[in-house]
Amino acid sequence: MNKEQLDELMHVIDNMNERLDNPITKKLQLEKTGHAAEKLFIYGKECEDCRQQFTLLEDQLMQLNNQGNIIEELDINKHRKQVKEILSHLEKKHKVISEGYYLSICMSIGLGPGMIFGLTVFDNIALGMSFGLCIGVAVGVALDANAKKKGLVI
Ligand SMILES: [Zn+2]
Repeated sequence: MNKEQLDELMHVIDNMNERLDNPITKKLQLEKTGHAAEKLFIYGKECEDCRQQFTLLEDQLMQLNNQGNIIEELDINKHRKQVKEILSHLEKKHKVISEGYYLSICMSIGLGPGMIFGLTVFDNIALGMSFGLCIGVAVGVALDANAKKKGLVI
């Protein structure tokens, strides 16, 4: 795996982005795919799985790119599935997360205690829940910003 391969892959993604209609590029998650490829390239120096995923992604994108302007639903789904696998590997092994990852987690974590708090302290569930949500959002945004600073966000 070398820098030229990554450049080539990014070039293919750019090319597809320009050539294909917006709904298709969205479905193919091309932007996310590009970010994922960059991470695979970085971590691939030390991780065999990343190297393998990179090669698979490379093959798949070349194939998609050669298909012209019409891309079958089946191929779109196959590609999405692979991107999902890559993201899940990056998340589990390398602690890379999607944008807004902590926000969504903290928001749902905040709701539970907020509800209990609302019941016991405020005697008002809605107030407690919005209180919990606010704290969740504050913590989530801070954690997301921190992860972004460390280059761990896709
Ligand atoms: Zn890896």
